Amino acid sequence: MDKILEVKNLSYSFYTYGGIVKAVRDVSFDVNEGEVIGIVGESGCGKSVTAQCIIKLNPEPPGFFSNGSILYKGKEIIKMPDKEIMKIRGLEIGFIFQDPMTSLNPTMKVGKQIEEIFVQRKLYNKKELKEKALEILKLVGISDGERRYNQYPHELSGGMKQRVMIAIALIGNPSIIIADEPTTSLDVTIEAQILDLLKDLQRNLKRTIILITHDLGVIAKMCDRVLVMYGGKIVERGLVDDIFYNTKHPYTSGLLCSIASLETDKDTDLQPIEGTPPDLFSPPLGCPFAARCEYAMEICYNKLPLEYNITHVHTTMCWLQHELAQEVVLPCKKQLISEVV
Ligand code: SF4
Repeated sequence: MDKILEVKNLSYSFYTYGGIVKAVRDVSFDVNEGEVIGIVGESGCGKSVTAQCIIKLNPEPPGFFSNGSILYKGKEIIKMPDKEIMKIRGLEIGFIFQDPMTSLNPTMKVGKQIEEIFVQRKLYNKKELKEKALEILKLVGISDGERRYNQYPHELSGGMKQRVMIAIALIGNPSIIIADEPTTSLDVTIEAQILDLLKDLQRNLKRTIILITHDLGVIAKMCDRVLVMYGGKIVERGLVDDIFYNTKHPYTSGLLCSIASLETDKDTDLQPIEGTPPDLFSPPLGCPFAARCEYAMEICYNKLPLEYNITHVHTTMCWLQHELAQEVVLPCKKQLISEVV
């Protein structure tokens, strides 16, 4: 598979009144054409900032790139002037936001919002606008398009609004769709419908999807590969099977143990990860997870772990892989995959 995106040694920070927050710290990953890659972690781990860096969505200032490179189809994004990035944003890389209510214009009918983007992007002539707007609504599973076209966002359900957001993200026929927590504000049934829609679009339109989520159930259902982020770093990466069946990082294991599955008895205590994420004003010298890790050793507090290869696609940033470390079998929730797929 061809690489469509190459992120190398990306570091991104924000100036604040309290100092500089190092939100993304030396992150590297590739995305292959046509795959669904998930970025998972707790809030504040750097996953959304990483995704937004890909199309320079973070306001600068206060944000700034302190290091790294982002190549989209071989073109450097970081140094790209605003005029050029505007051509990539939406047209080549679409973005679906978490909360459709804050992204849709409440004072404008849905159809007109779609048409406005066609006009901005000079995609169709005036006569074609409505027909194309109805076509794209149909593509995202809105069958009574004519009625929806004439409605305002507040007249639509949460799931319908998210479908409209997906329609807007698809307008430029982008090669990559970045979906940032696209189902967080939806109930479970609607969430399943939206995830099915994204999966269908990926299969039928052969799109690449980068999915940001805190929910490993969503990852299991949707993704080919996973990046687990913690404290602004990728601490484990691998195929979905690697992450669920052969967990090699205590943080990933903690995430897996903290989620309910269909077989979880309602009286069973889930195990939350004790403690809080690291202070990114002054990140720890050693492993970012050390303060919460039950396996932490002396070296963990003093030295950043190396990234160890478990296979050619599965890596973990953890000293437990050092040849002198104790042997540990990390608990994981193997049954989750078969439950949700
Ligand atoms: Fe835990 Fe040490 Fe591994 Fe960090 S490097 S996850 S503290 S064992």
